[in-house]
Amino acid sequence: MGARLRFANAGFDYHFAIRSEERRPMIPRTLFSPEHDTFRDSVRRFMQTEVVPHDERWNEQGYVDREVWKKAGGNGFLCASMPEEYGGAGADKLYSVVLMEEQARANCSSLGFGLHSEIVAPYLLHYGSDALKKKYLPKMAAGEWIGAIAMSEPAAGSDLQGVKTSATRKGDGYVVNGSKTFITNGWHADVVIVVAKTDPAKGAKGTSLIIVDREMKGFSKGKRLKKVGLKGQDTAELFFDNVEVPAENLLGAENNGFVYLMQELPWERLQIAISAVAKCEAAIGWTSEYVRERKAFGKPVASFQNTRFKLAELATETQIARVFVDKCIELLLAGQLDTATASMAKYWATDLECKLIDECVQLHGGYGYMWEYPIARAWVDARVQRIYGGTNEIMKELISRSIGLGS
Ligand SMILES: Cc1cc2nc3c(=O)[nH]c(=O)nc-3n(C[C@H](O)[C@H](O)[C@H](O)COP(=O)(O)OP(=O)(O)OC[C@H]3O[C@@H](n4cnc5c(N)ncnc54)[C@H](O)[C@@H]3O)c2cc1C
Repeated sequence: MGARLRFANAGFDYHFAIRSEERRPMIPRTLFSPEHDTFRDSVRRFMQTEVVPHDERWNEQGYVDREVWKKAGGNGFLCASMPEEYGGAGADKLYSVVLMEEQARANCSSLGFGLHSEIVAPYLLHYGSDALKKKYLPKMAAGEWIGAIAMSEPAAGSDLQGVKTSATRKGDGYVVNGSKTFITNGWHADVVIVVAKTDPAKGAKGTSLIIVDREMKGFSKGKRLKKVGLKGQDTAELFFDNVEVPAENLLGAENNGFVYLMQELPWERLQIAISAVAKCEAAIGWTSEYVRERKAFGKPVASFQNTRFKLAELATETQIARVFVDKCIELLLAGQLDTATASMAKYWATDLECKLIDECVQLHGGYGYMWEYPIARAWVDARVQRIYGGTNEIMKELISRSIGLGS
């Protein structure tokens, strides 16, 4: 049965908690128009009707149904910021922000929509030929084809210069060989941006981005990886065995892949920060609700000074994160978000998310460790936010460079 009933059985109305979080006094957000708010309502409804009821089953099976991708596409929730001529809605990035925030608040980590719509699709839009955009983006916007990006390899994650996957020129195209791991949407993936060496002797300057799709011989998927959290997300290994790829599937110029990765990373990192802050806000909502209802020593847990002070501290830190991340979104919209600032947002917001959710688990007592409770799910999902998208240590490297330290 659906998650809603399970939470209700545990004496806890999950959806009420989502609403209650909005009652907290906050510095008003100024980013969104009434149209964005209307869109938010419809995304929230979609999460409640098409996602939350299936989430437990997706967690158990280790992947979401393809059907939900098609439904999301049908509602205009995929690739919303892509131009209409390529199947998108031509929407501004704030609509994408709304989608990420609502998914975080619904606490359903199984969906890889953000990576598909706001990481994979932008590479195609920014560096793909018109033919490539027409070939892949409309199918992605409809949810018919699912996108992934394959950078990491078993022996190369933080150090992408160490990528071994190769794309060797052969006649009119490339032959791709190698393997990737930890790939989000990997098991479902129909179209993959592969980071490959086109000139291995040149290191980062010999790296290119090449599109491989499901119809190409020699492209295969490994097992779905069993993870601590994100249990319904089909993270997988990918294998490329003499995959013949036409030259037109190269994104941008040959050997320029690293430049493109650097250009796109600030937005990718900000997306992680956006979901982290939304999750912090939701966690405070769930926890405030819980401590008001739960009694110990004959009174609500909320009446203990420790509980109130702890939640006051967490609400303060979340507010600080919210203001900073909203400012970063503003900079992004103005085309001014730099690498160091995006790295600060990613590292600080995800560190906060892990600390905050752990404190909230503590305030739930034993129930915080029970899978039926949203805080337990948020706890296992949060940990990876400090690892993927560039580890928080790599974020600090980038920040230190911006203040004139390091290489
Ligand atoms: C659930 C999940 C989903 C993912 N999705 C994707 C995806 O869709 N596509 C994709 O390509 N990858 C994906 N990844 C991979 C992810 O981006 C990498 O795991 C991450 O970049 C870290 O690389 P690594 O695992 O090789 O760790 P390593 O690079 O081996 O790092 C190990 C430790 O060393 C530290 N370290 C490394 N270098 C330095 C340094 N210079 N200074 C200080 N400390 C350092 C790291 O911070 C870390 O603590 C995903 C990972 C997970 C877990």
